[in-house]
Amino acid sequence: MTAHASTIDELTVQRDRARQDHAALAARELKLDLTRGKPSPQQLDLSAGLLESPEAAVSADGTDLRNYGGLQGLPELRAIFSDALQVPVEQLLAAGNSSLELMHDALVFALLGTLPGGQRRWVDEPQIAFLCPVPGYDRHFALCERLGIEMIPVPMTSDGPDMDVVERLAAEDPRVKGIWCVPKYSNPDGAVYSEDAVRRLAAMPTAAPDFRIFWDNAYAVHHLGDEPAAIADLLGLCAEHGNPDRAFVFGSTSKITFAGGGVAFFGSSPANVQWWLGCTAKRSIGPDKINQLRHVRFLRDADGLREHMRRHAAVIRPKFEAVDKILNAELGGTGLAEWTRPEGGYFITVRVPAGCARAVVAKAKEAGIALTPAGATHPRGDDPLDQVIRIAPTYPEQSELEVAIAGFATCVRLVGTEKLLAEHEG
Ligand code: PMP
Repeated sequence: MTAHASTIDELTVQRDRARQDHAALAARELKLDLTRGKPSPQQLDLSAGLLESPEAAVSADGTDLRNYGGLQGLPELRAIFSDALQVPVEQLLAAGNSSLELMHDALVFALLGTLPGGQRRWVDEPQIAFLCPVPGYDRHFALCERLGIEMIPVPMTSDGPDMDVVERLAAEDPRVKGIWCVPKYSNPDGAVYSEDAVRRLAAMPTAAPDFRIFWDNAYAVHHLGDEPAAIADLLGLCAEHGNPDRAFVFGSTSKITFAGGGVAFFGSSPANVQWWLGCTAKRSIGPDKINQLRHVRFLRDADGLREHMRRHAAVIRPKFEAVDKILNAELGGTGLAEWTRPEGGYFITVRVPAGCARAVVAKAKEAGIALTPAGATHPRGDDPLDQVIRIAPTYPEQSELEVAIAGFATCVRLVGTEKLLAEHEG
């Protein structure tokens, strides 16, 4: 990013104005939080119907759901999500309340047991690594860190990860056992994987025979506009290219119904599903089928799910639009920031001039505006260019959000102009 050429005098005026604005902002003693992508109370109210107790806890096939069992989850709920997650019902499992838990379990199961197609447990390899498209989701990186999995950053593009880099690393390095992907409205930059990227992921040769794509489709139905993005069918393409066991698909209703009170899904090839059930059968006697039933009764079918997501979009679209409008008014044409205009998902990524992200987040904190720590979008919290900031606009009320984003823009102007002046002087 190149800041627009300005004279030292102009820059000094801008810097001084930004200093005054920041001082005025700090004096307001705000307490605003843009850190995590959480649904707002207004969004959670959309699912209030979920709390009405089911008439009788009986599934479509007559099973009494108040008892143990049913490790695969309710077939009628799996049917509702089968299309959205692009997994045939019989290969899709409905599990507990968190897809992140399922990703954690998938890694632990692969560390402690041999995967279909694998030669040994991952824990018996001298070292294993995952490809990490960056910017990416901090909790994916935290899982790798926790479990001793090396992280290899790969640049993200607006079409998905840089596939030339992915193909080379996957083909050359047998330590590379997997890749993290958020294929639709990715966290944080809202990218939608192109058909070509998905096909190449499915088809590419890998040095590790038990390579897995962790396909975290967390935002599969979270469209903001009227033209939902579509991604290619990874599971189908993997099978077509002779790599049927390559994909692990994850999803959840965390940002559909209740975050932390929803249902998570795992989908994969028949062999992987059998392997998974073998592992989970030791861990659990069955998921919370009562919550699954509540979801079936509340969402009804795939159309009901779509309709429900339109109501979410109606609540959060104005928030995304407000962020774009304010950033445009405050920073447009200054060269001090670039930002994404996602078509769905939960985040906006702002890129500030290199070396400024940490300072902007610190200045915002001084003014009572909490932002996701700079660097969180990179493995080990290290953004080598110190440039990327993730904005989560969904949780605050509209008026608070607008104050917070205007304040954030002030911090970008302050840090950016100070940096430019220092460069001029230096
Ligand atoms: N994956 C991604 C990409 C996310 O952004 C989130 C939530 N921030 C999750 C997973 C967490 O999902 P869950 O609540 O199902 O654990």
